[in-house]
Amino acid sequence: MDFKDYIRVIPDFPQPGISFKDITTLLNDGEKYRLAINELKELVSDLKIDLIAGPEARGFVIGAPLAYALGVGFVPIRKSGKLPYETIEAGYDLEYGKDTLAMHSDAIKPGQNVLIADDLLATGGTISTSISLVRQLGGNVVGTAFLIELSELNGRDKLDGINVVSLVKYQ
Ligand code: IMP
Repeated sequence: MDFKDYIRVIPDFPQPGISFKDITTLLNDGEKYRLAINELKELVSDLKIDLIAGPEARGFVIGAPLAYALGVGFVPIRKSGKLPYETIEAGYDLEYGKDTLAMHSDAIKPGQNVLIADDLLATGGTISTSISLVRQLGGNVVGTAFLIELSELNGRDKLDGINVVSLVKYQ
């Protein structure tokens, strides 16, 4: 099954030079969406996972159904100012722009094994920041899972040798 057939590529979005991988076309197809989540589930089946954490917003679309499928909890990582309880925060650079991510300070207990999930690995900035938030709370990052990996941006190299799984790679 080639998931690329269901991902729409939009040139020059959100700015000139960016080739945006639009997963809404995949999400729109219930069978393919389920296949994608099930395939990610298979790829992480050797890992011992207590929780999945995912950055908003597309990390929720991948991480929450994967957590449901595995029968583990889900931790939302959100932009600063969105979470209602006490948070920890970390700043980061995006492929296009800058931002701050936050997590509830009681979301992860020390020693819990956490898989981080998102739709796409580009430069690795979002995921390295998510990893540092999990580690600040004493969580053990056992791996990362993505629908899409933009290989030429070498995001993997930022991830400290942490296990990376992805369904689709673009050069
Ligand atoms: P990174 O931090 O550079 O690895 O960028 C990954 C983050 O940016 C993810 O949270 C993605 O949702 C978002 N992103 C970057 N490029 C794209 C794209 O082409 N399609 C969809 N999301 C993207």
